[in-house]
Amino acid sequence: MKKVAFYTLGCKLNFSETSTISRQFEDRGFQKVDFQENPDIFIINTCSVTENADKKCKKIVKEAKKISPDSYVAIIGCYAQLKPREISEIKGVDAVLGAAEKFRLHELLGDFAKEQEAKVLASEITEAKSFNNAYSINDRTRTFLKVQDGCNYGCAFCTIPLARGKSRSNTIASVLESAREIASTDVKEVVLTGVNIGDFGIVEGKRQERFADLVFALDQVDGIDRFRISSIEPNLLTNEIIEFVSRSERFVPHFHIPLQSGSNTILRKMGRRYLRELYEDRVSKIKTLMPHACIGVDVIVGFPGETDELFLETYNFLNDLDISYLHVFTYSERANTRAVEMDGVVPMKKRNERSKMLRILSEKKRRKFYEENLGKTFTVLFEEDIDGGKMHGFTENYIRVAAKYDPMLINETKQVTLDYINDSGNVEVLEPEMVYEKHK
Ligand code: SF4
Repeated sequence: MKKVAFYTLGCKLNFSETSTISRQFEDRGFQKVDFQENPDIFIINTCSVTENADKKCKKIVKEAKKISPDSYVAIIGCYAQLKPREISEIKGVDAVLGAAEKFRLHELLGDFAKEQEAKVLASEITEAKSFNNAYSINDRTRTFLKVQDGCNYGCAFCTIPLARGKSRSNTIASVLESAREIASTDVKEVVLTGVNIGDFGIVEGKRQERFADLVFALDQVDGIDRFRISSIEPNLLTNEIIEFVSRSERFVPHFHIPLQSGSNTILRKMGRRYLRELYEDRVSKIKTLMPHACIGVDVIVGFPGETDELFLETYNFLNDLDISYLHVFTYSERANTRAVEMDGVVPMKKRNERSKMLRILSEKKRRKFYEENLGKTFTVLFEEDIDGGKMHGFTENYIRVAAKYDPMLINETKQVTLDYINDSGNVEVLEPEMVYEKHK
């Protein structure tokens, strides 16, 4: 039995795809092993957004060859689509597969026999037209379910459309089928993932369905306690969706909404499809209906043309906004994007300073959000995440809690009352039994 190991860089989408590809191998009789267990084949799923994607890729290949010098190494993923030739020249690489090829490893690579030269099987990104269903089953607690791929937006800084192609989706019927399969595995939480999930519904180049209808349909699937919408563009997060989530027992009150900049000047330069006023309106709508909702924000600092004044606009906008945490990205130049040609390059030192300021702001926001929820009762899904006698889990509104370790609670949902914030920044809870006593 041949042994195969996987390494995934990047986002939840990559994780869901690696997981599905690994099941293809298992179905064909391969044994899935850890990276260190002398595999015969390594599949490395790369990301183009990762800083120093090239160096990381080289390092992983080197590591793989150290573990199994005679192994077969195939590189897939976004970076493989963008730079197939470059990657094929890395010592030790046997094959590079692009976006249209990565789900056809067996058909294209046969029995994974090594050849003199690395195989490059990466067609133009315009060829990536079909949707490949994927979901991750890594632990029993949570799964990432891919519902959409690609993007038609073309923001000035982004290489994702070049690496993943045009927007295309699964059908509602097929997503429901996957959700039912997942429900039968005892997974409690499903995170909906995609590149631009609000744009869900384009099948074979035509808009056929709507993301809101997918949400309504999934809400009816029995056997899954929670659905989480991973990240959704503000202009696609409609009142209809927000109102539905506020009434739903299954869709949790947690939204991750990319803002990227709080300055309208920069938003226009980035080619984003909204202004800060719309973003403010979305946050206010959510908080009016769900005061306890968690709102995460993606923001980029140091985009070309971001002067000190424009950065302060972003800082003050975020400071005043009722949000719960930030994911801060330091702008870095990417080949073949519009932004790379723009004037007003921000020195790296300034970019790093701004990033630090926003990271500090994020910590303040998170603490404030946690504090506002102390004394309230939520449901925690406990994970197999144990540290110093404590176990961890997340509430429906994404507060990370710590509780005394109890193996019976792993992958279980329990009502807890949030007690205080501990030194690690997690919220300690009253023991579940105590809450039960309190509610009896
Ligand atoms: S919406 Fe913009 S940032 Fe997001 S994937 Fe599409 S092009 Fe990239």
